Amino acid sequence: MVLTGLMGHVIDVEAHVARGLPGFTIVGLPDASLAEAKDRVRAAVASSGVEWPRHRITVNLSPASLPKSGSGTDLAIAVAVLAAAGVVDAALARDLVLLGELGLDGRVRPIRGVLPAIAAAVHAGATRAVVPAGNAAEAQLVSGARVDAAVALATVLGALGAEATAESLEPVPAPAARVRQVAVPDLADVRGQPLARHALEVAAAGGHHLLMVGPPGAGKTMLAERLPGILPDLDDAEAVRVTAVHSLAGAFDAAAGLMRRPPFEAPHHTASSAAIVGGGSGLARPGAASLAHAGVLFLDEAPEFPTRVVDTLRQPLERGEIVLHRAHGATRYPARFQLVLAANPCPCGMFAGTGEGCTCTSVVRRRYLARLSGPLLDRVDIRVEVGAAARADEPGEDTASVAARVQEARGAARERLAAQGWTLAGEASGPWLRRVTSRAACAGLWRAVERGALSARGFDRSLRLAWTLCDLEGASSPGVEHIAQALALREGTAS
Ligand SMILES: [Zn+2]
Repeated sequence: MVLTGLMGHVIDVEAHVARGLPGFTIVGLPDASLAEAKDRVRAAVASSGVEWPRHRITVNLSPASLPKSGSGTDLAIAVAVLAAAGVVDAALARDLVLLGELGLDGRVRPIRGVLPAIAAAVHAGATRAVVPAGNAAEAQLVSGARVDAAVALATVLGALGAEATAESLEPVPAPAARVRQVAVPDLADVRGQPLARHALEVAAAGGHHLLMVGPPGAGKTMLAERLPGILPDLDDAEAVRVTAVHSLAGAFDAAAGLMRRPPFEAPHHTASSAAIVGGGSGLARPGAASLAHAGVLFLDEAPEFPTRVVDTLRQPLERGEIVLHRAHGATRYPARFQLVLAANPCPCGMFAGTGEGCTCTSVVRRRYLARLSGPLLDRVDIRVEVGAAARADEPGEDTASVAARVQEARGAARERLAAQGWTLAGEASGPWLRRVTSRAACAGLWRAVERGALSARGFDRSLRLAWTLCDLEGASSPGVEHIAQALALREGTAS
């Protein structure tokens, strides 16, 4: 199996054993790590107490047109060579999907991306697979195939009829997953901030992108981190997709099962474009935008992100996926996330209300937030000012209560939009919304357009927001007051 993005392709590994000078060649576009596979495979076979065939051996990985990289084909190469040499039963090995890297000591070592690889193998009709013991829990999350866990090459060869010495070896555990954000913190921790809390709820209900502007320490990060908690669980298909992306990035703990909750990713503004949209040599790795798929991508201090990095987010915002162009073709990763931006009001961070304590000139201030304009800000439906943290002692409403309202509003939107193929208010098209919204309600928006306060794009975005507000209230269609609220949320003047 090789993976191109989340797409798995079954690779046929064939070996040919001929008389002649002993040698070992692998063909079919091998990259540097495949060349090293030769040494690993030979050593692992020797460590398993099986003699390496003294023949001219050619291994062919097909189709040749697919780029292959990584060490996940070691196990398949070893079995193919020994099947061609008659050491293992070729008939038993024929339809087996074999995944795993081999250690020099003969152990089968875990690899990345086992979940999407097994899912693709099942899709291609495979019914039996052997995976590294360290990846077994992950592989077993996919139904449809019998998956055997291999600790050592010797046991795999033994099961296929070879006389191998299976010493008792400890399984190689999967590398500790870089799992961040285990438990999502509760909204009850956020004291005061009624406006920002409301904005967060509306964003969750309609799938709207959100910008929070406020001084450092006002609680913007606290609020953003609590957004995933008020979003509903992922459905089955989305859970597998999200888990698969995290498996590829090595950021997934199989013991916790499929990822059922929306992820939260918060790349730092010094992160490279590759860290955000994905890339790297060999197997292109998914970046933060893909790890945030079906969840939240949070850019704190958003104006500090370099323009070139921000520009790379344009494609996922428009298409919900990222296409990475590689030497041997394109790699696609899903990247439909909810964007949350946070910004200080000015470079010194102190400008608020009266502007007392701020050392920035008005020009500097304007330029600072203007850095956010363009592709990102264009897509942000809600802008909210987050004031200095209130000193109120009473805890805020908890996550569960807000999540219940969000769930209900989403249900109403889904029902209304089902015939159009949309699920969230934030996805509905402008022309359609204009047709189904009352003339009286739209009048407020037209007035805003006339006085130059709203662009055509802004018109549709405000309309979407008004529908979300109406869904949250359980109303059947937005009225004048929803439109007014939507305009205020969009312009950051809600009070
Ligand atoms: Zn300032």
